Amino acid sequence: MRLLLVEDHVPLADELLAGLNRQGYAVDWLADGRDAVHQGSTEPYDLIILDLGLPGVPGLEVLGQWRAAGLVTPVLILTARDSWAERIEGLKAGADDYLTKPFHPEELFLRIQALLRRSHGQVNQPTLQAAGLHLDEGRQCVVREGADIQLTAAEFRLLRYFMLHPEQILSKSHLAEHLYDGETERDSNVLEVHVNHLRRKLGKSVIETRRGQGYLFGGQAR
Ligand code: CA
Repeated sequence: MRLLLVEDHVPLADELLAGLNRQGYAVDWLADGRDAVHQGSTEPYDLIILDLGLPGVPGLEVLGQWRAAGLVTPVLILTARDSWAERIEGLKAGADDYLTKPFHPEELFLRIQALLRRSHGQVNQPTLQAAGLHLDEGRQCVVREGADIQLTAAEFRLLRYFMLHPEQILSKSHLAEHLYDGETERDSNVLEVHVNHLRRKLGKSVIETRRGQGYLFGGQAR
């Protein structure tokens, strides 16, 4: 999953970037509201973390402009500790969730997981589930019939994306756009290698190849 972090406080941004990377997210970082208005609505993010106190354009206005332009990406806002007015304005402007500063990074990670599951129709599940698999996002492994199957970091990122988009044809370029940040070179051969590793671990039929179109996850397991 590819996230946009908009936060002008550099030490916090650094901490969150490192943490989010460890959680297996590809993250682009911006510190200015003007850049965020543009980039948030042109790049295909799966979720956006938006600080409200920003230089350039204030976060509330950034969010308002995104929603006015039809952007439906889930947005989690970061607000000042005592500002209930800010939280209310943020929710009115179309935020999906909020966290008040200071917060523990673990809480942010759990809210992101929940928001992503919710925005992909997995409403009542405490963990990500698809095609008979449970993804343990804390331990970054997958569980099938009670047994752990270990994953590399790259396999975990790819499988999480597949499990959030079951029974959908996903092209290699689409996958690359959502698995790598804006600065990483995208190599579809590498993706193919990871898909083959996942097939070896989970069974060949879990990920089908649709020639000329891409991959289909979970099509056999209904
Ligand atoms: Ca700020």
